[in-house]
Formats: sequence, structure tokens, C-alpha cells
Amino acid sequence: MKLFDLHCDTLYRAVDENGSIIDNNYHLSVLKGNRYDKWVQCFAVWIPDEYRKDEAFNLFKRAKLKFDEEINKNQDLIIHCKNLDDIINAIKDNKCAAVLTVEGSAVLAGELNNLDYLKKCGVRMITLTWNGWCEAGGGALTTEKNGITSFGKEVIRKMTELSIVIDISHASDNLFFDVANEVDVPIVASHSNSRTVCNNKRNLTDEQFNIIKSREGLVGLNFANIFLRENKKASAYDIIKHADYFLSLGGEKIICIGTDFDGADMPEGILGIESMENLYELFLRHNYKESLVEDIFFNNAFNFFLKFV
Ligand SMILES: [Zn+2]
Repeated sequence: MKLFDLHCDTLYRAVDENGSIIDNNYHLSVLKGNRYDKWVQCFAVWIPDEYRKDEAFNLFKRAKLKFDEEINKNQDLIIHCKNLDDIINAIKDNKCAAVLTVEGSAVLAGELNNLDYLKKCGVRMITLTWNGWCEAGGGALTTEKNGITSFGKEVIRKMTELSIVIDISHASDNLFFDVANEVDVPIVASHSNSRTVCNNKRNLTDEQFNIIKSREGLVGLNFANIFLRENKKASAYDIIKHADYFLSLGGEKIICIGTDFDGADMPEGILGIESMENLYELFLRHNYKESLVEDIFFNNAFNFFLKFV
């Protein structure tokens, strides 16, 4: 089985708990994930809303240090992939192809030039906000005047120049539409489900999904209980319900996986990365063609990186 996961919080958790991304008892570890034939994993540095300015930037630096230390010691298992060639080489050697991402443009501490530093560090995707406010605009839990700021406009233009993927998971609706109006590049929702299936502000409306689809972006299916089902008692089958719905909107080349491992409570049937094979089988048992399941689990995200990153 091949897996391309657009979002996990394992790196943040390892920094926060002084743990390890290689070997741990979390949802995701490199040792557990390396069972898969080909595995590309985006490791997000989550910037919680309490962290702003220098604290936010310093949190990233601490996480990068941990990431580098662990990868340098375990080069037989994992490679930090800064570009497409790195990804191709890592998966050819059956190593975890690790892509560094940031969840929250508060990481920039309000300084546009910090984007150059992040690019140098190998960051390839940035989620513009978490749930609250930051210098770029408002997150999903903000209300009123929560669209893009003038700084946010500069950020997304510069991200486009640097080929850093714009991730609008966690954005407020106003911010989403402002971003879509401001740039014409593909937009990604790395870990967001359908709001029609589960009414939650963190999920995408049909209109938003259609915009992402028309731009040939990506939508990563999020496994978090609260974004799968309104009563929060989800099972692995609810992931398929969101996939079914996005497919009914023509999303067969758009949907992929954005697990949210180590950032959320998982539904029944999903323990962590070791459960991905069972989920793959579950899709097959629900009459998904194997080629479509492969597209969702790997090819769609991989092809996006081939084209745009
Ligand atoms: Zn998140």
C-alpha cells in the first residue's frame, strides 16, 4: 500500500512532550509507518493560537531542531524532502519521505522575510491560520471582519513565488474566499471534510470544494471525530461517507488523506498509522475500485506535488 498523508501533528507533539517522531506510542511513528511500500508524510509544526510573534517563530525553530536531529540519526528510515526529487528518491529507497509544513502563518511573526527562511528550512506548505486570529487573517472560530489582511495578501503572493503551497484548512469562510480571489494558484485544504455531511466550521462548503476542484487543488480527508460526525461518535466508515460525498461533487482527482494524527481524537477503528491498511480494505469493501483508492491514498497528492511543488 502507498500512503501520502498531508497532515499530522506528530512533530509538534514530540516537541511538546519531549518525545520522538521515530519511535513513540503516538498515533504516528516512523517505525510504525515504514511498513508501507511508499510513504510520504507531511509533518506540521502546529503554532497554537497562544503563540505569537517571537514565541511563534521560536517554536518553529525548536521543532526544526528536533526534526533535523532525529532525521540525521535515522537516515536509514527517513529523509527530509525539500523538493520533488528528494521525495522520489526517498520512496524509491523505501524510506519515509518527510515533508515539513507549518500550521499557522503566525510562525512568520509578522515578518514577510521569514518566508525565505522557512523555504530554506524546506517548508513546502503553510496553513494560513489556526482557529483564531493571526497577522494574515481570521481562522474558523473567529467572527466578523475575519477576511485577509494586507499582510496576508503579501504572504500568499510571496508563498506563490516561493512555491510554498497555500493551505486553507482552519481558515474562516471570509479568509477562504479572499484567498481564492487574490491568487489563481491551486489551493489546498490539507485536513478538512465536507460541511454538508458534518456541519462544522472547520469543514468545507460545497462552494469551497468546487473552487478547490476547479483550481486542481487537494482536499485531505480528516479523521478527527469532531469533523466526521456531528455527534462526535464516528467510525472509520464515516471517512468513506465524506469521500462518497466529495466524489458526488466530482472530486476523484482532488481528495486525498489528511489524517490529523496526534492532533485529534480518532474514530472507532482507527488507532493510528497502523490502521491505514484496514481503512484501505474498508474502501475496497465499499465497492471503491482499487485504482480510485490508490488515487485517494497516494496518487492525487503525489501528482499535485509533481505539477505544482
Ligand atoms: Zn489542524
